[in-house]
Amino acid sequence: MRTIFGDCAVRFDGKRTRRLRGRLLVVIKPDDTVLVHDVDGYQPVAWLTRPASLALTREPTRVLATEGEQTLSVEFEDATVRTLDATVAGQPVGTCRCGGELVRSNGVVCLDCGEQFPLPGDATVLDSTSACGLPHFRVERGDVFELCLDRDCASLDDAVAERFDDVWDCPDCSGTLGIERRRTLVASCEGASDCDAAFVVPTGTVDGECDCGLPAFETESGRRCLDATCERY
Ligand SMILES: [Zn+2]
Ligand SMILES: [Zn+2]
Ligand SMILES: [Zn+2]
Ligand SMILES: [Zn+2]
Repeated sequence: MRTIFGDCAVRFDGKRTRRLRGRLLVVIKPDDTVLVHDVDGYQPVAWLTRPASLALTREPTRVLATEGEQTLSVEFEDATVRTLDATVAGQPVGTCRCGGELVRSNGVVCLDCGEQFPLPGDATVLDSTSACGLPHFRVERGDVFELCLDRDCASLDDAVAERFDDVWDCPDCSGTLGIERRRTLVASCEGASDCDAAFVVPTGTVDGECDCGLPAFETESGRRCLDATCERY
């Protein structure tokens, strides 16, 4: 992230042209979004979101962002330019192996070393830690799984497969269901080659059986069949 501060002339060309002058702060985000702030309020006085092109030139310092018909130009007379090692903002969830702070932001990310750990959206990060030093997370996939954030330490897919592979019978043929990852974890038929029975493993824990023979799940929104379309429920 970069900031530029100083006396400047702003020109915005879009549906109409606006010209501004002032001692202003320009923020350039890593996605090239440009925000121009003055002392008033919280809103930028001018901005261009994710422009197709962005140029920052020196002597004089000038920012030029273009997106379609829109152009934002900021020309400085004297400029203080800084490059900042900014991070995402996220809810703190524990301590990284490097000693840095871990935050929840589209997975879990360390604010110091930058290491990222993908995490299902419905998972909870726990206070307990793995032997490697990272926190555990808890997630329900038929059973309760508490695993290390690092997939090299413990794989959720492997843990669910170990617990439920070939445990449930296929409703459409004589085969059994195996756990595999598609976009999410799915219990799919491993029997007849022309059987395409497959069910997303819901968030919740197994609680007995549905009348159709498939397992029933206790979920936050109530009891349901593994087969979300099952009419017996
Ligand atoms: Zn770290
Ligand atoms: Zn670990
Ligand atoms: Zn089948
Ligand atoms: Zn059912």
